[in-house]
Amino acid sequence: MAIATLPENFPTRLFINGEFTDAADKRTYNSINPATEEVIAPIAMAGKADLEAAISAAEAAFPAWAAMPAAKRSNLIWKVGEEISKRRDAFAALEAADAGKPIRENASIDVPMAADHFKYFAGVLRGLQGETIPVNDNLFVYTLREPLGIVAGITPWNFPLLMAARKIAPALAAGNCVILKPANPTPLTALLLAECIQAAKIPPGVVSVLPGKGSEVGQQIVEHPKIAAISFTGSTGVGVKMVRDAAPTLKKLTMELGGKSPNVIFADAELDSAIKGAQAAIFYNKGEVCTAGSRLFVEDKVHDEVVEKLGSRTAKLAGGNPLDDETRYGPQNNAEQFKTTMDYIAKGKAEGARLVAGGERMGDKGYFVKPTVFADVKPEMAIAREEIFGPVLAVQKFSEFDELMAKANGSEYGLAAGVWTRDVSKAHRYAKAIKAGAVWVNCYNWYDSAVPYGGYKQSGYGREMGLQGLMAMTQQKSVWVQL
Ligand code: NAP
Ligand code: MG
Repeated sequence: MAIATLPENFPTRLFINGEFTDAADKRTYNSINPATEEVIAPIAMAGKADLEAAISAAEAAFPAWAAMPAAKRSNLIWKVGEEISKRRDAFAALEAADAGKPIRENASIDVPMAADHFKYFAGVLRGLQGETIPVNDNLFVYTLREPLGIVAGITPWNFPLLMAARKIAPALAAGNCVILKPANPTPLTALLLAECIQAAKIPPGVVSVLPGKGSEVGQQIVEHPKIAAISFTGSTGVGVKMVRDAAPTLKKLTMELGGKSPNVIFADAELDSAIKGAQAAIFYNKGEVCTAGSRLFVEDKVHDEVVEKLGSRTAKLAGGNPLDDETRYGPQNNAEQFKTTMDYIAKGKAEGARLVAGGERMGDKGYFVKPTVFADVKPEMAIAREEIFGPVLAVQKFSEFDELMAKANGSEYGLAAGVWTRDVSKAHRYAKAIKAGAVWVNCYNWYDSAVPYGGYKQSGYGREMGLQGLMAMTQQKSVWVQL
C-alpha cells in the first residue's frame, strides 16, 4: 500500500506560523494514489479560521522579514533549495505516489528544478534596487522597490512541488510573506516543502501552506482584503472567475492558465528527432502539462510517414507503477482527469477522427489511459480545440506556410508552440508569427528558472520565473526630494 512511502513523522497537517497543526475544525480529507486508487493518508483541510491564523502570522512576520538585509534573506532562501535537494528521494517518491508521476522523472526534473527556483531567486534578489532619475537641478528623485505584503500562490496538481516552489521562491525573494494553497488532489510535496522551509529557518509566519478546497479556502483567499496579490496556475475557467472575484480588493494577479499548443513538423525536419520530440511533447507527464504539444501539424509530404511512425512508437509506450524506477508513463492524476480524458477520446471517435494508437483505458486498476493518437483531425473538432490535459494527440495536415499559421493560431489559447525544421529562416518566421508565450525550435518543453514564462490570449497574463517573475512580486515607489 502506498502509505508505506510516507516517511516517518511526515507532516500531514497545515503549516501555519512555523508549525504543523490540525485544521481549527479538525477536518481532514484523503489523499489518493492514482495508480492504485488507494488512500495514502488523511490530510488536514484548511478553512476560514486557518486562513485567518495564517494571515495574522504573516502580518506579524512581515515587517522584520521585509526589513531583513538582502544578503541574509538570500542565504535563508538558498538554504530552502539545499533542504529540498537533501530530500530528493522522499520528494520523488511522494510525488510518484500522490500525483502518478514517474519517480525517475521527479528525481531528475521536478526536484532539482524546484531547488533551483529557490537558488536562482536567492541569487537575483541581491540585484533588486531602485534608480535615480534626473528631473531638474532642484529635485533629487529616486525609486524604491518594495514588497507587496502578503501574497498567495494557488497551484494545480500536475507539477505539485515545482509549482509550489515557483510561487514561494520569488515571493520570498522580494520580501513578501506567502500563503500557498496546493491543489486538492496533491498536497503531500507542498507539506514536505514546508518542512524544508522550517529546516532552513525561514522565520515563522513568513510562509504558510494550507491544503484545502479551491471552492472554500481558495475562494476565501481570492476575496480576502489583506492579501495583496495571487500568483495562480490552473485552468482558464477558474482563472476568469478569480479575476472577477479579486476585483473588489484590487489584487495583483498573475494568471498561468490552460493551453492547446501547436507543434509543427516541416518536411525538411530531421524526422526521427521530430517524431520523438512530438511524442514527448504530448505524452510527457501523461499529457498533464499546460504546454503539452497537443495539436501536431505535419507537412503533407511527410504526413503519412510521420503518423505511421508516431503511431507505432506510441503503441509501445507501456504504463507502470510510478514508484518503480523503470516506469516512464504513469496514470492520470485523479479520477476526474481520468474521466475527462476518456470522454475526449470518445468524442474524437464520435467526431470521425482516425484512431492511430491507444484510444482506451490501460488495465483495469488505477487511472491509466493508453497514449492516444488521432489523425485526420479537423480544426472544428473538440479534440482540436479544447484543452484535454491528458495523453491525446490531434494530428492535422498542412501544405502552405500561411495555411499552417492560420490553423496554428486558430486557438483561443497561446501558451507555447514547437517547430521542427532544418531551415533557420522558416523557424524564425514561425517563431515570430505564432501567438504564444514560448516557442521551442527543434526541441520542446525546455524550462529554466532564469527564463520568463507565461501565456498569450486565454492562456493568461503576467510572467513567472526570470527577473520579470521577481519584479512581479514587488511594487515601485518614487521619492521626490526638494533640494
Ligand atoms: P483548476 O481546477 O483551475 O485548479 C487550480 C487551483 O485552483 C487548485 O488549487 C484549485 O483547488 C484552485 N481553485 C479551484 N477553484 C477555485 C476558486 N474558486 N478560488 C480559488 N482557487 C480555486 O486546475 P487544475 O485542474 O488543478 O489544473 C489543470 C489546469 O491547470 C489546466 O487547465 C492546465 O492547463 C493548467 N495549468 C497551467 C499551467 C501554466 O503554467 N499555464 C501549468 C499547469 C497547469 P482544488 O484543487 O481544490 O480544486
Ligand atoms: Mg493524489
